[in-house]
Amino acid sequence: MPTSRDSKAQRACGVDWSEVERSSGSSLLASAGHARAETELYSPIPDGYRRGRHKYVAVLGTVMSGLGKGIFASSVAKLLKDKGLVVAPIKMEGYLNVDAGTLNPFRHGEVFVLDDGTECDMDLGTYERVLDQNLTRRNFVTAGQIYREILERERHGGYLGRDVQMIPHVTGEVKRKIRELAMYGDGSAPADVVFIEVGGTVGDYENGFYIEALRELAFEEGEDSVCFVALTYIIEPEAIGEQKSKAAQLGIKRVMEAGIQPHIIACRATRRCGPTVLEKIAMFSNVPLRRVFSMHDRPSVYSIPESMRQEGLDREILSVLGLHERIDLAHEDRARERWMSYIRKIEAPKNKTVTIGLTGKYASVRDAYASIVKTVEHCATHLECTAKLEWIESTELVDQNIPERLAACDAVIVPGGFGSRGVEGKISAVRHCRTTGLPFLGICLGFQCAVIEFARHVVGLKEANSTEFDPNCPQAVISELPEQKKVEQLGGTMRLGGQDVAIQPGTLAHYLYGKDLIRHRFRHRYEVDPLFIERLEAGGMIFSGRHPQHPIMQILELPAPGEAPEGIGHPFFFAAQFHPELLGRPLRPEPCFMGLLAAALQRKHPGAGQVRWARSPDAAKVD
Ligand code: GLN
Repeated sequence: MPTSRDSKAQRACGVDWSEVERSSGSSLLASAGHARAETELYSPIPDGYRRGRHKYVAVLGTVMSGLGKGIFASSVAKLLKDKGLVVAPIKMEGYLNVDAGTLNPFRHGEVFVLDDGTECDMDLGTYERVLDQNLTRRNFVTAGQIYREILERERHGGYLGRDVQMIPHVTGEVKRKIRELAMYGDGSAPADVVFIEVGGTVGDYENGFYIEALRELAFEEGEDSVCFVALTYIIEPEAIGEQKSKAAQLGIKRVMEAGIQPHIIACRATRRCGPTVLEKIAMFSNVPLRRVFSMHDRPSVYSIPESMRQEGLDREILSVLGLHERIDLAHEDRARERWMSYIRKIEAPKNKTVTIGLTGKYASVRDAYASIVKTVEHCATHLECTAKLEWIESTELVDQNIPERLAACDAVIVPGGFGSRGVEGKISAVRHCRTTGLPFLGICLGFQCAVIEFARHVVGLKEANSTEFDPNCPQAVISELPEQKKVEQLGGTMRLGGQDVAIQPGTLAHYLYGKDLIRHRFRHRYEVDPLFIERLEAGGMIFSGRHPQHPIMQILELPAPGEAPEGIGHPFFFAAQFHPELLGRPLRPEPCFMGLLAAALQRKHPGAGQVRWARSPDAAKVD
């Protein structure tokens, strides 16, 4: 018999939740294998799943993609997390790649790497930054992953003679992943609310099965369990000079055609949406006006949660999901105060500006460096200055034009990258920074460029290079070391994800991080060849961060000017084999970026007094 929790719709259709549960097994294979042949209700429910315990917010795009679904979903998730609820976001991609590792950042934006080594969409970076929460592979799903699992299961006889179909098997897998995440939650407690973001827009061929799965999920979970938010776009053609809602209406209709009645409509727009437009949208989409929101552009994405709160978006979502009883107001006040102190810093007038050069390869596609941009922004906010990024195309850099190209920069970041294109330009930029005292931060490939440059011009290994760029290089200071990979038992050939970094006391790294052991995320295949470490150190380079057990160099730096042999000392020369930008969070600015910006500030405004974070003259003695 249906329980009292079952929705009217389910009862009307004669759906019995216990039937859904009975027809599903528990373990991954068993659930598929034991699905009873005579029922269409294949919907694998993870062992121990409790319906009603977890709620869901599904954010669907209409009209067009690129409207900031991730920013929207993470901002709402933050508001709910601030109220003491456990939230877990999941990004569902329609593409067939199994992960984002093979995607070109030039086309898709940066590949974000999670602590567990998952290579994923850059939106996961937005969730981690806004929620200040580490995510795992459970928070990222692609169509390729789902098909691969289903096909493997089919080959292992997991479907007991059934034809394997988009519905119920593919949609069943989507629901399973969502429910498994709900049970896993944030890793320490099950989720009160799972935020589901489907890539692309409703109506796209490739994400249709996700939308259907969500419709089924809402049906099975019952009323008050799934809140659908349609994110739409209000156009304002210049020639007409007013906001038009038709495209948004048509987009929302597509959602309704898929069998989904949105509960909340969020209208993206350049300017605040006028009342007429909001009323029209409400009327045509059967959504009360109080649940139709203007999501117009804001000066900072971090001010979005507070704007949403003021307009009551969080309250409406709690009402749709019946969650008011679970919230903790004191927790919300504390969290909000911390966040607002950061917002106040963003909004405060700044009288200092620094220019940070970024010698990228894809300088025309800025999303390829999204986390670096964000991390610089957080640090500038904390240091109460404005940081202007100067995009420098590394393929155009040569020794001769560098002084002029970097003339406006107060500091330079040489970021990560793959392949030889632009590498010599990056090495030249490192040389310029090293020899002129310009603050420098090298990231991953930028770290390797710093080693190559130092080996060539200080140690005298004139042919120093990486085997990535010159496989037959006679002085391969950077090379692929397969035996180390075996020791660490890493999948594939890439060293991916979080690793410990032991920091040498008394160094700049120790001054910045203030700890003996830190953890950071890696994504690389090549590293410093241990054969050259002694010679590099004899030349004055300090490897201040290493793997705790293996001879893998993870941070390098040059000593402060007063402490080094002639020509080696430098106010801020620091590079990491890991990607510090992946851990840049608004309320916890990344220390080596703080160091870089503080050094840039000191250079630009020497009279402005000691900037906290900048290395003190006797930093070598600090531990
Ligand atoms: N191409 C280099 C390597 O694989 C650096 C990688 C990176 O910058 N992410 O080691």
